[in-house]
Amino acid sequence: AREPIVTESPLGEDPERDLRPQRIADMVGQREVMQRLDIVLDAARKRGEPLGHILFDGPPGLGKTTFATCIPREMNVPLVTSSGPALKAPKDLIPYLTNLEEGAVLFIDEIHRMPKPVEEYLYTAMEDFRLDIVLGEGVNARTINLKLKQFTLIGATTRAGMLSGPLRDRFHIREHLGFYTVEELVEIIRRNSRKLQIPLTDEAAVEIARRSRGTPRVANNRLRWVRDYADSKAGGSATLEVARAALLMAGVDVLGLDKQDRGYLETIIRVFGGGPVGVDAVAHTMNLATDTLSDEVEPFLLRSELVVRTPRGRVVTTKAYQHLQIKPIEKPKE
Ligand code: ADP
Repeated sequence: AREPIVTESPLGEDPERDLRPQRIADMVGQREVMQRLDIVLDAARKRGEPLGHILFDGPPGLGKTTFATCIPREMNVPLVTSSGPALKAPKDLIPYLTNLEEGAVLFIDEIHRMPKPVEEYLYTAMEDFRLDIVLGEGVNARTINLKLKQFTLIGATTRAGMLSGPLRDRFHIREHLGFYTVEELVEIIRRNSRKLQIPLTDEAAVEIARRSRGTPRVANNRLRWVRDYADSKAGGSATLEVARAALLMAGVDVLGLDKQDRGYLETIIRVFGGGPVGVDAVAHTMNLATDTLSDEVEPFLLRSELVVRTPRGRVVTTKAYQHLQIKPIEKPKE
């Protein structure tokens, strides 16, 4: 297969490259998503047509970029990548679109962060493979129509809800990536420990998987940390005890929560009496961006039922109090 050419990647050198699966068959989990993708890839290949536009959404580190880089390999077409924040004005999009080869994939990460005018430019490009460029201003303004090669747009977003309806509707395939099971993460950790040549016991693999917030990227990072710890403190062998000690030192608890996760729960409990509280207020108190909380911290805590969303705001659950070993304060009845 032809290596996809990645041009002008604003993401820079891919820090995940050594562990990122190269083919869809090397990816673990997301079975249903894979089965549906298999069908559309197969059908497009049989018809000799470019693939329809695909949108992936879900929390960070669950495989959106991995899918986006594997798909062009499966189709044997080039890949060009960009990201929402890098596309500040419509003119930033033009070189990407006009240089695309027939059938090529354009991957736009964080697509929800594209400004509205850029988004509007994409509409005709996605639908009719045409660009209408306005030159000049006022009475002298002229529109030039530019015909584009048929291409496939793959978008990734941590928040499908923030995408405008018209953009969302122009994706033929929309897939949500959910958290991975412990078994799936164990499989990923086993494979990667072989790749990184880390002697890891089965119990240690399970322990890391349990404490990785259902997220392959987190599992990979924790695996690397356990390796460093094992090399430095335990003669290189990553046993269960070594993994536990390493994770304890990194501030990762038995549920896999890190300092920031616990900080979020503790802030709601100590500052806001357990909630309900708006996410903005929590973010402000923690001196963090609201996006960081709602995209990166909250999804797993919601999934773990440590916090719930109510119409009046976030409320921590009894499970969170038990986990943090904090006694709930009796609230006067309203
Ligand atoms: P996202 O784009 O959703 O933030 P990535 O695709 O960059 O996440 O995934 C982060 C890392 O996690 C990848 O480099 C890869 O090593 C690992 N990973 C993600 N999904 C899978 C998977 N399904 N199977 C194996 N490893 C995966």
